[in-house]
Amino acid sequence: MGFRRTFGSGMWAAVLLCLGTPSQAQEQLPLRPLPPGKTVFVLQPHHDDHTTDHGMGGLIARFVDEGYDVYYLRASNDEKDGTALPAENDKINLREALAAAKVLGIKEVINLNWRNDYTAPIPLNELRAQIIFLIRKYKPDIVVGHNPWEHYQKNPDHRNVGRAMAEAYWMAGLENVHPEHFLLGVQPHAASYLIGKARLDWGLGHRPNVFFELNAEQVRRKQIAYHTHRNVYANPATARAMRAELARLGLYLPEWEALDDQEAAVLMEAWHMEWISRQRGRQAGVEFAEDYYFMDEFDHLPGLKAYLQQHVRTP
Ligand SMILES: [Zn+2]
Repeated sequence: MGFRRTFGSGMWAAVLLCLGTPSQAQEQLPLRPLPPGKTVFVLQPHHDDHTTDHGMGGLIARFVDEGYDVYYLRASNDEKDGTALPAENDKINLREALAAAKVLGIKEVINLNWRNDYTAPIPLNELRAQIIFLIRKYKPDIVVGHNPWEHYQKNPDHRNVGRAMAEAYWMAGLENVHPEHFLLGVQPHAASYLIGKARLDWGLGHRPNVFFELNAEQVRRKQIAYHTHRNVYANPATARAMRAELARLGLYLPEWEALDDQEAAVLMEAWHMEWISRQRGRQAGVEFAEDYYFMDEFDHLPGLKAYLQQHVRTP
């Protein structure tokens, strides 16, 4: 007679799903073809967002190679990006943005010149209205930008422009949104695809990315601490229901025979706590573990670190 048998196959399906969690975080993602269309609008806050190692410069180049017209919006003036004074940075970065756009084959760079890293006080509606107008003017099939739902994005311009972009992407096709635009000769236009770039080595959202090992004593203390919250856990009614279900199936648990419902409920919680700790431990190759989302120190140039580790020598 087994306690587990009373849960049937559904329980085992759930166990298998739990076992799959860490590998899902590392699973290979499918390759997909470019979305159909002829016009791509890249909406970015900065001069260099597409060209960084985590940008979408390669995708832009591919769009161009495959015959799409690509337009680039640079929403900020990039005055803080560089070693010169702000006004000079603005000019240098614009010049370099135009040169980079040329390398990739971008047709046109549109500059909104909002103040760099000061997008928070810009009314979202105003920035969004500008983007809505530009979507209506350039009529893209595909909009590309920072994923507005990216987790842990620290850059205010990336967050705010990404959000305005996502809202504009939806609203530009609505007839009742900014009808004053139509006096300027544009029409509502809905792009069909939105591609969001996220720097995923900052974090994969709320998926766990690390385990921390525990010993049995730590698991035990966790069990106790858990069911110490008697107001919310270890409810005797749960054990009572379990006993009734077992009885209905003609089963019983010898360990529970001498326990009242409250004690049995505590034991249930303890089993569960040990079970989950062992599951996580098995996934991590140790006896017990817990899984976490862990943000490591931000590594601006992760590839450079690996290169240095391989190549530096003592004189
Ligand atoms: Zn940026």
